[in-house]
Amino acid sequence: MRVVYPAHPLVAWYLKRTGFRAITLPWKTVHMLDDPHLNHGLLQHEAIHVEQIERLGPFKFTVLYLWYLLRHGYWDNPLEIEARNRSGHH
Ligand SMILES: [Zn+2]
Repeated sequence: MRVVYPAHPLVAWYLKRTGFRAITLPWKTVHMLDDPHLNHGLLQHEAIHVEQIERLGPFKFTVLYLWYLLRHGYWDNPLEIEARNRSGHH
């Protein structure tokens, strides 16, 4: 897992537009708007996504994540539910 803080400007633009504070990209890079030392809970949430990428492989993770997103929405996306439950962070 590689943490990029502050997030790359293009990624930061996307995060601000969508209202998220962090994103994990399929090549196991986590981009954060907040200092990971100050928002450790969010970093743990993103670390679960990295585990999912390792478990499923980057291609299957990306396809499955997008499929779940379309089918269930963000909150009820099973990959988000797992990340929330195991990290205790939204
Ligand atoms: Zn998440």
